[in-house]
Formats: sequence, C-alpha cells, structure tokens
Amino acid sequence: FHFFSREMDQEAHKRLLSETHLKKCIAKQEVSINYQPIVWVEDGEIMGVESLIRWTNPTLGFVPPDYFIPIAEASGVIHEIGNWVFQQSIIDLHTINEHHNPPLTMAINASVLQFQSSQWYDVVKKAVDNKLVDPELLEVEITERLLLDDSSQVNKRLDNFRKLGIHLSVDDFGTGYSALTYLKRCPVSIVKIDRGFIRDIPADKDDMVLVRAIIAMAHGLGLEVIAEGVETQEQWDFLKQEGCDYAQGYYFSRPLPIEDFLAWMREYEP
Ligand code: C2E
Ligand code: CA
Ligand code: CA
Repeated sequence: FHFFSREMDQEAHKRLLSETHLKKCIAKQEVSINYQPIVWVEDGEIMGVESLIRWTNPTLGFVPPDYFIPIAEASGVIHEIGNWVFQQSIIDLHTINEHHNPPLTMAINASVLQFQSSQWYDVVKKAVDNKLVDPELLEVEITERLLLDDSSQVNKRLDNFRKLGIHLSVDDFGTGYSALTYLKRCPVSIVKIDRGFIRDIPADKDDMVLVRAIIAMAHGLGLEVIAEGVETQEQWDFLKQEGCDYAQGYYFSRPLPIEDFLAWMREYEP
C-alpha cells in the first residue's frame, strides 16, 4: 500500500511539475513542430503533411504530446499552445510549398477545448481573412468525442470552419464511440483510420475486414480515407487493393523537423 501511494505521489508530483513548466513552454521557446507526410495510396505522391508538436524542457527532457496535451487541456494552456501551433504551421506551410508543386495541405490537430470558445476560430479566421493561408490547404483534425458533443455551439463552430473553406477530418477513427450517424450530420470530409487497425495487417484478418468496411462506408458517404501508422509494404499493398485514398506512417517517413522534412522531400521518390 505504501509503495502504491508513493508512486501515486510521484505521478502527481510529475504532473504538477509538468504543468508548471508547460505554462512557460511557449514563452521559453521549448516547443517545436515535426511534420509527417501523407501520401496518395495509388502512386505514393505526397498529398500533405501533419503537424505534430514536440516539447523539450531543460528539467523534464523530452515530454511526449500524449502525456502533456491532457495536462495542457486540464490547465487551460492548450489555448495558447493551439494558437502557437496554428501560427507556426501556416508559416512552415509557406516554406514547404516553396519547394513543392502542387501545393501540399497542412493537417493540424485540435483539442476539443479549442472549439468550446471562439478564441481559436477567431485566430484562424483572421489568418484566412488576411490571406496568410489558403483555407483549402488546411485540414483540422478533430476527435470523435467532439462530434458526439451535440451542443449547438460546437456544431455551429464546426460549420463556421467549413464555411471558411477549411476541411475537417476525424482522427483516430474507430477507437471511440464511432456513432456513425455523426459522419452524416457533421461537416467532415476525411476519416483517419486509427493506426491500431493497421498495425497487425496482414496477420490479423479481422482488422483487414474492419479496414475494408470503414473504407467502403466512408466512400459511401462521400468521404475520403487516410490510413495511419503504415509501416510496411504489405500494408500499403493492402490499402491500394482496398482503394484507400491516402496513407501516413513510418514506411514513408517519421515526423521530422522542417529542415529535415524539406531534405526528405528532395530525396523522396514515390
Ligand atoms: P495523432 O494525431 O494520432 O498523431 C499520430 C501519432 O502517431 C504521432 O504521435 C505520430 O508520431 C505517430 N505515428 C505516425 N506514424 C506512425 C507509424 O507508422 N507507427 C507508429 N507506431 N506511430 C506512428 P505523436 O507525434 O507522439 O503524437 C501523439 C498525439 O498527440 C497525436 O496523435 C495527437 O493526438 C496529439 N498531438 C500532437 N500534436 C498535437 C497538437 O499540436 N495539438 C493537439 N491538440 N494534439 C496534438
Ligand atoms: Ca492527428
Ligand atoms: Ca490519429
């Protein structure tokens, strides 16, 4: 019992320490973004990139986003972080597209909380209004949890993003409640199949059946599909055979800092 409670204390302490440092992570320039390519399944050409935040603190070292994003949400820092990620991503999109024709899209992860006030929307709208970014090149990745939120507030906000010309995609599809009705009800245009379904292909026949079904359903609803976590040629072949639209994963590239991403892009041959 003692051991257990001490561990809990340590975890609580670590959380608190993270929260304290997290509040200053933007001001202290401890955050950066890595970019991971998303490719067309059919021919392997690059379609876009996903922006993935990285945080390295002098005391804590590298802290993975799966750990600190929930803390940022609980403490409210997520708003400052979300705004920064957006601003930096659109700056980097310009740089990336100086080196790529046709222009690539930028997928940005957004927390549920960023839709609960108008703050983030206002930042995005201002950038679009001021022509700092072409909204058609922006994809906002949201989770199933957000789509289940029936409040008219959230629905209206999603509509507003769509009206700006920005595309919405459902991240980690299949891991949450997967109430399929929301796909019809919400202004979503892309479904991202969670990497948990891709990982064990081709060994796991059930996963293959599920992926096939998700692709068919999404296409039936007029949506496009991205498969996440593609790590092998076999997985890519399977997705090709099933008519999946896009793929993303270590097989193509890990998420990279902008300079490394540009170098990867120069070398890449589909
Ligand atoms: P996600 O949006 O599902 O991002 C995909 C995660 O899978 C990334 O982890 C990426 O590095 C990893 N990944 C990509 N390809 C492969 C692969 O082939 N195999 C395996 N095993 N993993 C792969 P990462 O960068 O650690 O991000 C974790 C999560 O943190 C993201 O999951 C996203 O939910 C969240 N996140 C990252 N950046 C942001 C951000 O700027 N804002 C918010 N709100 N959340 C973010
Ligand atoms: Ca994502
Ligand atoms: Ca995902």
